[in-house]
Amino acid sequence: MTLDAERDAVVAHAPELAGLTPGRTGNLSIRRGDRFAVTPTGVAYDAFDAEDVPVVDLDGERVAGRMKPSSEVPMHRHIYRGHADDPGAIVHTHSQWSTTMAVLHEPLPPIHYMIVAVGKRVPVAEYAPYGTEELAANVVAAMEAADATACFIENHGLVVVADDIETAVEHTEHVESLAQLYLQSKAAGGDPVELPDEELETAIEQFEGYGQ
Ligand code: 13P
Ligand code: ZN
Repeated sequence: MTLDAERDAVVAHAPELAGLTPGRTGNLSIRRGDRFAVTPTGVAYDAFDAEDVPVVDLDGERVAGRMKPSSEVPMHRHIYRGHADDPGAIVHTHSQWSTTMAVLHEPLPPIHYMIVAVGKRVPVAEYAPYGTEELAANVVAAMEAADATACFIENHGLVVVADDIETAVEHTEHVESLAQLYLQSKAAGGDPVELPDEELETAIEQFEGYGQ
């Protein structure tokens, strides 16, 4: 159980974060069973290989990998403990538009039907120092209260959980784009109009049959 496929996938997907979050900020993980492979702490996204990628159990113990795991292991493991679907994946970024919302302490309302990819709104988790159990608890509480799979973190960034890493990256891009739309429409001098709940329910139903 050294999660070889998941460690390969961490190496393959980590460079996608480079376009979303400045420098070495952010992290991602991929879970299988009671373990997850996670990006190493403080390393550029193209500067490690599969052998370096740490594997951590849901108690936070490193069980494999040459490098030290992300400082946000508490956040990742607490989210996985509450995420029933296995496998799973988490992407955390300091992406520009989402972090602007985080700086404003503003949840993202349903101004576009694409929000239902992550819930009916994107809540804001209360600030705590990065990497702490307190921050992990705040993030889990915010997602649970809003029944959302994404949340902003006050004065910090964005975190998204999904069933696989491709979806977690895609949903990160969706939230980022929706935050941009919301902030641009406010900057244009308008008052963004929210979709009513019945339209969100319709979008959720449509999504169940979306795609090939
Ligand atoms: P790591 O490099 O330890 O993953 O930390 C980056 C980060 O974004 C902390 O919140
Ligand atoms: Zn961060």
